[in-house]
Amino acid sequence: MHTDLVAALDIGGTKIAGALVDRDGTLVVRAQRPTPARESGERVMEAVNGVLAELAASPRWGEATAVGIGSAGPVDAAGGTVSPVNVPGWRGFPLVERVGDATGGLPVTLVGDGVAITAAEHWLGAARGHDNALCMVVSTGVGGGLVLGGALHPGPSGNAGHIGHISVDLDGDPCPCGARGCVERIASGPNIARRALENGWRPGPDGDASAVAVAAAARAGDPVAVASFERAAQALAAGIAATATLVDVDIAVIGGGVAGAGDLLFAPLRSALRRYATLSFVQQLTVAPAVMGNDAGLVGAAAAALATRTGAGIPARAH
Ligand SMILES: [Zn+2]
Repeated sequence: MHTDLVAALDIGGTKIAGALVDRDGTLVVRAQRPTPARESGERVMEAVNGVLAELAASPRWGEATAVGIGSAGPVDAAGGTVSPVNVPGWRGFPLVERVGDATGGLPVTLVGDGVAITAAEHWLGAARGHDNALCMVVSTGVGGGLVLGGALHPGPSGNAGHIGHISVDLDGDPCPCGARGCVERIASGPNIARRALENGWRPGPDGDASAVAVAAAARAGDPVAVASFERAAQALAAGIAATATLVDVDIAVIGGGVAGAGDLLFAPLRSALRRYATLSFVQQLTVAPAVMGNDAGLVGAAAAALATRTGAGIPARAH
């Protein structure tokens, strides 16, 4: 039996989380620092080094045999660099080399954060037992990843499955990525809130104008709030249907804060999916909420590292 551990890093625009993860996917040691996202690239790297140093102080650090990193994207897995949109100090930053140096030469696997959560949901979560799956995060952005033929499919660059930036509205609103009508431009939390405001919804006395507040208004029957969630659900359904039609997945797992709206999102999503996923081989496509929660990024980074090292897919897959 393997007893070795993987050091996992989950790097986002607000926090840098780290853990030592065992072969069951249990986080045995944790560390976390805020991301100094507006500071220089070196300052951000200092925060990563701080997290690694905290992990290395654990008596179990010696059992770590690899490092897995899930990072906000885009990432370049082949080149070992990251250029997170929300961390301007990192453009083509050689994160794999720097983390390798900081960990005494442990092998480092880098994937995008959407790929990492996909690895987690496939290993231990809602996509477990599915050989072909799309997993997504719908929150301030929309990300995703793919499992194809039983194995995580990061693609050569580590970004495959980036469903947030496929266009579902040809002449739609310009997206910060440069395209138009992207899934994210319609379905992310900030865009759900923006659309509700543009159509006349107003926040309550607390001034909360987030998607969470729009969800509360929708539950109370506000038709503009309901319509904004329905539009988001429609965009997600079109993107999911396109993905399923292209690569033949049988489940779409959706997590993130917007998915926390529950049936407010999932009911219109399933309904819209029936209108977009029409060919015989995608009609059985199911949609399920993610179950891995806040640790998905860390568990998934570890899973990606293990999958890369064994070359045989994610370990302990249940069928
Ligand atoms: Zn876009």
